Amino acid sequence: MGKTLVIGAGGVSSAAVHKMAMNSDVFTEITLASRRLFKCEEIAAGVKSRTGVTIKTAQVDAMDVPAVVALIRKTGAELLVNLALPYQDLVLMDACLEAGIHYLDTANYEPEDEAKFEYHWQWAYQDKFKAAGLTCILGSGFDPGVTSIYAAWLKKHKLDTIRQIDVLDCNGGDNGKAFATNFNPEINIREVTADARHWENGDWVTSPAMTHKVTFDFPEVGEKNMYLMYHEELESMKTHFPEIERARFWMTFGDAYINHVRVLEGIGMTSIEPIIHNGQEIIPLQFLKSVLPDPSDLGELTKGKTCIGDIATGLKDGVEKTYYIYNICDHEECYAEVGSQAVSYTTGVPAMIGAAMVLKGIWREPGVWNTEQLDPDAFMDMLNEQGLPWEVHELSGPVEF
Ligand code: NDP
Repeated sequence: MGKTLVIGAGGVSSAAVHKMAMNSDVFTEITLASRRLFKCEEIAAGVKSRTGVTIKTAQVDAMDVPAVVALIRKTGAELLVNLALPYQDLVLMDACLEAGIHYLDTANYEPEDEAKFEYHWQWAYQDKFKAAGLTCILGSGFDPGVTSIYAAWLKKHKLDTIRQIDVLDCNGGDNGKAFATNFNPEINIREVTADARHWENGDWVTSPAMTHKVTFDFPEVGEKNMYLMYHEELESMKTHFPEIERARFWMTFGDAYINHVRVLEGIGMTSIEPIIHNGQEIIPLQFLKSVLPDPSDLGELTKGKTCIGDIATGLKDGVEKTYYIYNICDHEECYAEVGSQAVSYTTGVPAMIGAAMVLKGIWREPGVWNTEQLDPDAFMDMLNEQGLPWEVHELSGPVEF
């Protein structure tokens, strides 16, 4: 159905490319390109052995727009799937506009020297993509991505309006390491050390990072401590569902993880301010990333389940209703299927599904879109078919935390 160019060859990319190869009727030709060719070749070998599908590989620096444009033209791709880092979003969007192809990513743009999680840089491309007749899908991972599609589905089928929404991200998995992150350590630590922010009554409410803790009993996982955090889908959901009065995001962390982050932050290791070390400028957080485990190596070690979903309250035919919609994903089952742990899998599969929506022509409206702005039904069907089945339950009332 279409040729696809995937940029970035990390944990999320590996899961996504495996699932693309398993849907070769849609993804008729896949090229995987990244900064280091051997990472692409390792993934290609895994895909070949698990699925029999051959994917092409290439070396490219995503920051080099002419090189990416040349690669797009060489591959004949009609869609670029950005599974590199948030720093590359804008340059890859520029390359897509220049080469005339569609774009999809899983995380909003961040300037490398500022931990700012805001959509305005990417939303500013709306007119350019519209004028070019091209589709740009932002944030088609799990959160953001599926969590916003869940909200769109609830609003289409279960609620007339959403008054309040809580996104609950639980990783009940254990990888046996003293401290490891489940996706890119630099991006993960920038996110968790940023101030917590949630939307309430028309304004952002800010609190210090990892201070507001609630214990929640997650289905099939059990009780875990979850912490209030900022996450980018809060901005897009409160914008696209303007009736939302309160939107919050929660993520579970074990005590050991919190203690490590606090110590590392306390001694300056999570800083993104450049320092001089042995006469050379380095960024402490980037150095820290180099000594931490690579999340794409954790698949074999991780056991347990993730449970990610939304609890939304609103009106249906004038009556208040609350629904909990979520997916449960097992780390070991993901590893058996595609060689990845569940955090890479739960991001890579929705990236593949979003890409399939574009290639199949279901999500083809020209412009820049967050996933809650698009019709959720075909995507929700594919989640069930592609390894991320969801459940929805009505709760007796709104959340009390
Ligand atoms: P990794 O660090 O494992 O992989 C990133 C890949 O991008 C690496 O292969 C890296 O190359 C490559 N890359 C980095 N810079 C460049 C560049 N300039 N040119 C070409 N390639 C480059 O990250 P993850 O797989 O964990 O995460 C990928 C993305 O997914 C991130 O943006 C992350 O924020 C997002 N994410 C989204 C989630 C969601 O639910 N929406 C959840 C988890 C992650 P090299 O190997 O050389 O470093």
